[in-house]
Amino acid sequence: MLKLYNTLTRKKEEFEPINAGKVGLYTCGPTVYWFAHVGNLRSYVFADVLKRVLMYNNFDVKHIINVTDVGHLTSDADSGEDKLEKSAKKEGKTAKEISRFYFNAFKEDFIKLNLIEPFKWTWATEHIKEQIDMIKILVKKDYTYETSDGIYFDTSKFEDYGKLSNKKVEGLEAGKRIGMREKRNKTDFALWKFSKPEDNRQQEWDSPWGTGFPGWHIECSAMASKYLGKQFDIHTGGEDNMPIHHENEIAQSESAWGKKPWVKTWMHGAFLNVKGGKMSKSSGKIKTISELEDDGINPMAYRYFTYSAKYRKPLIWSEEAIQGALNSYKKLRNIISTIDNDGKTNKEYLKEFEKRVNDDLDMPGAVAVLWKLVRDEKAKGKIGTIKEMDEVFGLKLLEVKEKVEVPEYILKLAIERDSARERGKYEEADKIRVDIEKRGWRIIDVKNGFRKIEKIK
Ligand code: AMP
Ligand code: ZN
Repeated sequence: MLKLYNTLTRKKEEFEPINAGKVGLYTCGPTVYWFAHVGNLRSYVFADVLKRVLMYNNFDVKHIINVTDVGHLTSDADSGEDKLEKSAKKEGKTAKEISRFYFNAFKEDFIKLNLIEPFKWTWATEHIKEQIDMIKILVKKDYTYETSDGIYFDTSKFEDYGKLSNKKVEGLEAGKRIGMREKRNKTDFALWKFSKPEDNRQQEWDSPWGTGFPGWHIECSAMASKYLGKQFDIHTGGEDNMPIHHENEIAQSESAWGKKPWVKTWMHGAFLNVKGGKMSKSSGKIKTISELEDDGINPMAYRYFTYSAKYRKPLIWSEEAIQGALNSYKKLRNIISTIDNDGKTNKEYLKEFEKRVNDDLDMPGAVAVLWKLVRDEKAKGKIGTIKEMDEVFGLKLLEVKEKVEVPEYILKLAIERDSARERGKYEEADKIRVDIEKRGWRIIDVKNGFRKIEKIK
């Protein structure tokens, strides 16, 4: 029995999918204007562990992760510059070049962390029609109003507003109306923003309301509903997504589709913190996966480090902590490399392990079971059991036996090939594949993107 904590009900619940055996899972993805830091990546490791635990429980998981390449403003509310446009201006590139470059960098981290690729990466700019169609429904149902700045959602018309974070629709104090840029309620949010001539935007589209671009929240509602249906099982994100972004996603989706709940289980990962608060670009204390590698820290050691706290608890980043994780991880792999495979599995240990991961993804508990097994001199079936456990851990615990690390330039070529395929440039993709093979490596493809790179024997 799998139990998951649902932010919506504030309880650990026995998980039951809407359709037997199948799970629709949506994860709020990266805004691709800069490199991801290990704080961001904690949220994706959490989503990956959830997915792996669902798969371990024999569910067929359809996972969607969005790529935000428009509409996310420097403030999570509706003010400030579009992060993509700002970055493009600063780097003297097109918004497309920026989003492609940082997406590829993100994907490199994703693969290095052994995160399983989603069924589909959905790009916001490739789903403008779906977003406009959804706004049209909201306009028709009279949930919206127009200001000089765009089309806004009126949160006072959605009676459940705030149910996720337990907050109320906030009205405006008299006299503050101008400061709120004609908003009726403080909690109202933009569905569509009008382009202003002085912004000189690279990315803008026609709509029934005027030329402009979608608000950040509508992309997730439109894309999740397109691929997973008007009601689906699980939606994840970092804890900062919950009070504004997810609250708004619920308001617009439940209003548009008229179905409740839009999502059955909402799950949120806690922050990776540094001294003074969450790790963020503005904190000035960020680390990326490539910086860790430069310091001799294997990305798998970072993955192992994230298991030192439960996903709903904050985790504190420090040099000592990551070094400690690296040492334990190395020790673990070294011990494992000395164990002979007797071809069996150990049912007792697996049962204990299952109990931990099925209890709302208790990874510190699961790691403790792994260590107990590794140190148990009498236990049988160690290697077979570790192999099964690693389906959830994703720590490449047995790889040391094979000693094959994929070189960085091969990984980069593989991502380039993937990106060419996504853009429909199959000839270019094929050339890269041949090039990779000439260098002695082979890509094993799955439905969306590659999963594995192997050395040709
Ligand atoms: P962004 O690319 O800014 O949209 O953020 C991507 C994801 O990273 C979101 O789900 C955030 O909630 C998450 N995130 C940002 N900072 C942290 C942090 N310090 N710890 C954990 N997750 C974070
Ligand atoms: Zn989202």
